[in-house]
Amino acid sequence: MLNPPRNLGVYIHLPWCIHKCPYCDFNSHEASLDKVQNLEENYINAILEEFSYYEKEIPHRHISSIFFGGGTPSLVSPKLIQKIIDRIQSCNQEHMPEITMEANPGTIDVNNFSDYKLAGVNRISLGVQSFNNNHLKKLERIHSSEEAIKAIEVVKRLFTNYNLDLMFALPGQSLENLEKELLQAIEFESNHLSFYHLTIEPQTTFYKNPPKLPSEDLAFEMYEMITSLLQSKKYIHYETSAFAKSNYKSLHNQNYWFFGDYLGLGAGAHSKITFDNETIIRTHNTKNPKNYVDSINKKIFFQNKESISQDNLPFEFMMNALRLNQGFEKALFTQRTGLEFSVIQDKIKLSVNKGLLIDDGNVISPTKKGALFLNDMLQIFI
Ligand code: SF4
Repeated sequence: MLNPPRNLGVYIHLPWCIHKCPYCDFNSHEASLDKVQNLEENYINAILEEFSYYEKEIPHRHISSIFFGGGTPSLVSPKLIQKIIDRIQSCNQEHMPEITMEANPGTIDVNNFSDYKLAGVNRISLGVQSFNNNHLKKLERIHSSEEAIKAIEVVKRLFTNYNLDLMFALPGQSLENLEKELLQAIEFESNHLSFYHLTIEPQTTFYKNPPKLPSEDLAFEMYEMITSLLQSKKYIHYETSAFAKSNYKSLHNQNYWFFGDYLGLGAGAHSKITFDNETIIRTHNTKNPKNYVDSINKKIFFQNKESISQDNLPFEFMMNALRLNQGFEKALFTQRTGLEFSVIQDKIKLSVNKGLLIDDGNVISPTKKGALFLNDMLQIFI
């Protein structure tokens, strides 16, 4: 029996950036601040229209989190961020626990962060990436280390709940300079840190012109150093790349990993929704921001819509839930997929025998080896 979860996360994609970083394969588009100011109103109206469509399609849900991602959401005026939050809140009966906005330290002076807070934002995710100016230059970030520090100080004064995004395995990075950066990040006492391995993705400038990266062995040593140092500082390593002090795990991201329902509004965003008739639907929006606005104006609310077949559900569930180091309760598998746990019992047993999973009778969680070779383990569930 498949019951739609009551909670719904809402992701809002704001697609503009001052400069396209050479490693970035997100749906982000270069635009000057003037251009963003010209485009933002129509784009936000389209987002509100899209939200109204889903409000009718799936009424009676509780919006448990909002996440403004991008692109660079901190280029968008607080007035429009407030317009979105107010509209979403208007259909919520209960208190909204988490409203996150991604911000680029290079935009800290563009819009006043206290206005975002007044608009309802209660969590900031700051894309610091590195505290080393050589690395920042290589990554073509629009900010220096000094500007990143200034941005953290501004955010820290206003928000108790904030995340710093950092990257490792950067061109020319050594264990020693990563350690220095790590210690610097820890000094800010942020309650949440995310560390992403720089990977070279197709369709990026780095793909066409790859920089020399640390070897796989060195990258592995870096990951080990990050996890052990942060754990020694009382950060819980709760997901592949995410570390949090207790009570500061990202609710929005956990909803994805627990295979919850979510709406993705905006260009290129995608949604996953469980319906009363026991189908789980995924939709994708068109990626180009102008085409997105045009489609919404024509009342076309997604580019693709497909239901997840029962055969694919175990893989899709595992792909998300096994990112969590704490794992998942067996009952959640049935709640989210409508399938009996027995459907995957043999595959779980095989993964346990290979030393990839732990089954304590109630909770399934990845071993250290399973977490490291997650993609290989997932092949078992295809
Ligand atoms: S700022 Fe972020 S979203 Fe924008 S181009 Fe750089 S990595 Fe991509």
